[in-house]
Amino acid sequence: MNCIENYPLTDITTMHLPVKCKYFIEYESVFELKEIINSELYVQNKSLQIGGGSNLVFAGDYDGIILHSKIKFLNILKETPDYVIIEAGAGIVWDDFVKFCISKNFYGTENLSSIPGEVGASAVQNIGSYGVEVCEIILQVHCLDKKTGNETTFTNAQCQYGYRDSIFKNEYKDKYIVTSVEYKLSKQPKFTLTYGPLKHYKESLSSDDEMSMSAIRNIIIKTRDSKLPNPMEIGSVGSFFKNPIVSRDLFDILYRQYPSMPFYQVTDALVKIPAGWLIENAGLKGFKIGGAYVYEKQCLVIANNGHASSNDVMALCKYIIDTVKEKYGILLSPEANIIL
Ligand SMILES: Cc1cc2nc3c(=O)[nH]c(=O)nc-3n(C[C@H](O)[C@H](O)[C@H](O)COP(=O)(O)OP(=O)(O)OC[C@H]3O[C@@H](n4cnc5c(N)ncnc54)[C@H](O)[C@@H]3O)c2cc1C
Repeated sequence: MNCIENYPLTDITTMHLPVKCKYFIEYESVFELKEIINSELYVQNKSLQIGGGSNLVFAGDYDGIILHSKIKFLNILKETPDYVIIEAGAGIVWDDFVKFCISKNFYGTENLSSIPGEVGASAVQNIGSYGVEVCEIILQVHCLDKKTGNETTFTNAQCQYGYRDSIFKNEYKDKYIVTSVEYKLSKQPKFTLTYGPLKHYKESLSSDDEMSMSAIRNIIIKTRDSKLPNPMEIGSVGSFFKNPIVSRDLFDILYRQYPSMPFYQVTDALVKIPAGWLIENAGLKGFKIGGAYVYEKQCLVIANNGHASSNDVMALCKYIIDTVKEKYGILLSPEANIIL
């Protein structure tokens, strides 16, 4: 077991805050992870499993063990003319998995192109973009119980997926470590082109036969690059807040006041409002506390100018929540995992 003490988390998290952990341990197999779980060091310390650190905000130094998976196998478990079932190790970089699927003509991951992070977290976070959520292609999630070291498998239904949500963020929070994920992907062309630039792409083609996953991937990467900060250059966790879902009654009141407010009808009684619009319309575009600021191109993002401390980010997060609550009566909740 290779355990490093006082390990800086700055470069292994995309928010790039100047924080460190007491111990940092990486493992390459389920066997190695079991050894760690059985060790005295593990029993005596709190621990947190991380992936690519792209949705984590450390409120300060972490006084425990940070675990990181380097389980990177990729197995095709079943293949028929219609679909394929692939098991992917939790430590595979998510976008490498997307590239692999596209190269093999397996449909289902292309709309999730370029989302930072790793396979393990995809199943925890229920990542989503451009009208697709990863839960649509997840079959099973293989885990290790953090207390007993026992292996357990959860079916898709047992994972209780919702918008950027799963049982691993609620009832089973910090109770299981995802070791691998099984995805079921279509071998027959199947596209979701309902969102913005993908809708235009569909309209620009003369027949459905011309559609390609690579073209979709390229459009998505271009669009994302124009809106979101590149984590290598500007620290962030992507969307810092969830888009709030409000009652139709509250929406009607707000819409009379702000007729340009964008919205998405969820049900007859519920309406989703983009948090970025609420923040921008509250006059917070570019607003700064210390080295943390509201990203100008997308106000849903809190960015680090290179000098932000955890306190700056936490103070800005609180300021945004308070301002939005006061102006619209809506309580924003962070999408980012805040580690206290
Ligand atoms: C620029 C940018 C753009 C983004 N765009 C999107 C987007 O379009 N859509 C979207 O959904 N997200 C987006 N995100 C957020 C982020 O990429 C996802 O939440 C991603 O799934 C996080 O993966 P990670 O491996 O970095 O997980 P981490 O940030 O390291 O961890 C996230 C959570 O998962 C847990 N976790 C990680 N690995 C495991 C494991 N093996 N077992 C158990 N628990 C685990 C951690 O404890 C933590 O609670 C974006 C982030 C950035 C920085």
